[in-house]
Amino acid sequence: MTYDTDVLVLGAGPGGYVAAIRAAQHGLKTTIIEKDKVGGVCLNIGCIPSKAIIHQAELFHGIKDLENLGVSIDKSGFSYKKVYEKSREAADQLSKGVQFLLKKNKVAVVSDTGRLTGEHEITLSDGKKLIGKYIVLATGSRPRAIPGFDIDEKNILSSTGILMLQTLPKSLLILGSGAIGIEFAHIMNAFGVEVTLVEMLDQILPIEDEETVAILAKSFQNRGIQMITATKAISQKQTQQGVEVLLEDAKGKRTTVTVEKMLVSVGRAPNTENIGLEKVGIKPDKGGYIPVGDYNQTSVAGIFAIGDITRTPLLAHVASKEGEIVADFIAGKGNETSVDIMLVPGATYCEPQLASFGLTEKKLKENARPFKKSVFPYRGAGKAVAIGQPEGLVKVLSDEVTGEILGAHIVGANATELIHELLLARKAELLPEDIADMIHAHPTLSEAVMEAMRGIDGSPIHV
Ligand code: FAD
Repeated sequence: MTYDTDVLVLGAGPGGYVAAIRAAQHGLKTTIIEKDKVGGVCLNIGCIPSKAIIHQAELFHGIKDLENLGVSIDKSGFSYKKVYEKSREAADQLSKGVQFLLKKNKVAVVSDTGRLTGEHEITLSDGKKLIGKYIVLATGSRPRAIPGFDIDEKNILSSTGILMLQTLPKSLLILGSGAIGIEFAHIMNAFGVEVTLVEMLDQILPIEDEETVAILAKSFQNRGIQMITATKAISQKQTQQGVEVLLEDAKGKRTTVTVEKMLVSVGRAPNTENIGLEKVGIKPDKGGYIPVGDYNQTSVAGIFAIGDITRTPLLAHVASKEGEIVADFIAGKGNETSVDIMLVPGATYCEPQLASFGLTEKKLKENARPFKKSVFPYRGAGKAVAIGQPEGLVKVLSDEVTGEILGAHIVGANATELIHELLLARKAELLPEDIADMIHAHPTLSEAVMEAMRGIDGSPIHV
């Protein structure tokens, strides 16, 4: 069989474009097919525009700190449209950056929709066929819909719709309190929108450690964000006032909340329909995800699946890592077989920030695994107090016998950056005392990490 290209990649999100660039860097002839903008959800309608808006929201919220210094600021010229425009600038700049990187690495980019029509073949919308020795599927995900809450992107929004708003609603109900729901609660509250967060499970950010989430929840409460947990949204009705949402708590008690708009952020669905999986005999699981084995290989030799269409955490850095693993394997240079879930950091960008990896305290207890726990409060770190952000903690969980770091959870300023020292410690198989003994610059927030490590086998100094 003759091939047009060595590697054909379907979808140019953080999974696909990283796989393509890495494959090309290995000297493989590579083609990537993308029906929309390169960069995928992450760069265009996800991670990047949301972080651009969060930055503006935090600047806006920070006006209060300036006012405390006696500075008076006239906010009458404020327009949320400018916030929106800044977020689009950031997204466009980065999408163009990826276009440049693909070109620089000599990856051929095809702007079209593709679908599998054979084990080595993808057919484009005009019928043109591309033949590749290897195929990498990286078609990503879309907002999950729930019955009775049809997204119209007017009053009932998805994460995409809320990123495209150019004016602020007066009030917003957010259904689902995963990272996306939490980030929009933070953004909208910072801009003065009345926010109600509704979560079906017992705590907001249900997969995160209880103790860290409690600090975030308290902070959100102090900011006036209404959080309703253990409660389901049953139905909605659109009225002249906006959306009337019927809620039901765990005891069956029903209440109605009326808001101008609502955001449905109850998870994401993989884009695995209409990509021709049936043509080659790949069967998605019940949730629509593609089962993969080592090196992200599907059930068909030579076809790989990465990123949000597989059952690993739906995160950009996981998609990218899987892209690298696949490209290295195809090039015969791979030594990692799959993403190590214990080494995947999770980050939620709000105030205070939350970041973690590994197991939670609850999980360790459920697994009956003997562990040691150390918690160091931010207020014990001079820097946290100096910058007026003493709210937070660093929590480390380690194996009682071996000292292996089993999980780390940070809530507080810069948590999403600080987590990496702890992650490196786990990856390098360091023990808590290795970090505890290392000199950390003073004053830094990283001292809270050092102190938490001291707390595993000894005592922190500053608490
Ligand atoms: P995607 O980014 O979804 O890209 C898939 C690409 O494939 C798309 O460009 C699509 O157009 C294309 N495609 C699909 N089907 C076809 C076809 N048939 N033919 C051609 N092209 C096709 N993750 C983080 O790690 N950190 C964050 O802070 C973060 N924030 C987020 C905020 C929001 C609001 C959202 C919605 C998501 C966020 N995520 C974040 C998640 C992150 O965006 C995804 O995990 C990541 O984009 C997945 O990458 P991917 O390559 O698997 O797929």
